[in-house]
Amino acid sequence: MSKFWSPVVVRLTPYVPGEQPKITNLIKLNTNENPYGPSPRVLAALKDAAADPLRLYPDPNADDLKATIARYHDLTPAHVFVGNGSDEVLAHAFMALLKHDRPLYFPDISYSFYPVYCGLYDISYRAVPVDEAYRIDVNDYDADAGAVIFPNPNAPTGRLLGLADIEALLTRLPDVVVVVDEAYIDFGGDSAIALVQRHPNLLVVQTLSKSRSLAGLRVGFAVGHPDLIEGLERVKNSFNSYPLDRPAQLGAIASFEDEAYFQEARAKVIASREWLIEDLQELGFDVLPSAANFVFARHPQRDAGELAAALRQRAILVRHFKAPRIEQFLRISIGNDAECEALVKALSEIL
Ligand code: PMP
Repeated sequence: MSKFWSPVVVRLTPYVPGEQPKITNLIKLNTNENPYGPSPRVLAALKDAAADPLRLYPDPNADDLKATIARYHDLTPAHVFVGNGSDEVLAHAFMALLKHDRPLYFPDISYSFYPVYCGLYDISYRAVPVDEAYRIDVNDYDADAGAVIFPNPNAPTGRLLGLADIEALLTRLPDVVVVVDEAYIDFGGDSAIALVQRHPNLLVVQTLSKSRSLAGLRVGFAVGHPDLIEGLERVKNSFNSYPLDRPAQLGAIASFEDEAYFQEARAKVIASREWLIEDLQELGFDVLPSAANFVFARHPQRDAGELAAALRQRAILVRHFKAPRIEQFLRISIGNDAECEALVKALSEIL
């Protein structure tokens, strides 16, 4: 602590990211990365990007990338905002769209960055408990909300909310912005992007970190009514007018141009998830239904913290959150088949 810190910084409880170990011979199932790596087209584009004139600033508006994303989702570039990973896109949304006189609503059990942003931007919030099956009930979200945000599928539970529920919320609260954080949507849900043309109060945020295996490149985007997007652009141009570097813009475009690779990689992750859930259940775990590239599981007889530590001793990293209601769960990212098999083998030895 320094006497030079502002009161906001003194009060902050920053987000603690999952461990990124320097040792590479670990089986890393703790931060929901994609085991398959990006499309070869992305790697080729990044090689070309190395020959790109890095002495020049990148396109501040990322026009080509926005046009690519717009085409992919059948929208216009005015519907699209891009940033350095969806965390940064979310930060812009918090700054641009959230109200200071009314609370932000989000689920209690959700992405733990949301309360951190609330602290940073001095926004009050209400954490609405998920139900006994860890589901979000949209009826719990009231018109007095300044805005609503939730991940879909939710993190770290993996539970999915259907588009009918999301549309009912958008229709019931037309004056409330609803931000749907779809970091994991490609692993098992229908995107709310389909609702953007009908609901000007909807902002959908996605990332290339998970289903497109580009967590190291840092690209995320938001899709919504052009008026919402303009608000985010105003923040961006008051903060960092070059949101994405040149390689990131080129690599991201290449990723959208390889649909076959994208579909194949996500299908492999989904297939592994389904057999991993069965194997975990055979070992006695309760596993929540998952529409994401991770599973959320607890063992009725064994302490989750101890299991995580025992796995770590066997060079397998999983995530254990100490928050109320979920302290007995492990969040396990879906690796490739060999990694998932090693996890099951290690757990069967530990149990
Ligand atoms: N939203 C959710 C729900 C997440 O779990 C994550 C990953 N930690 C993000 C957003 C951010 O992902 P990224 O910044 O890599 O796009």
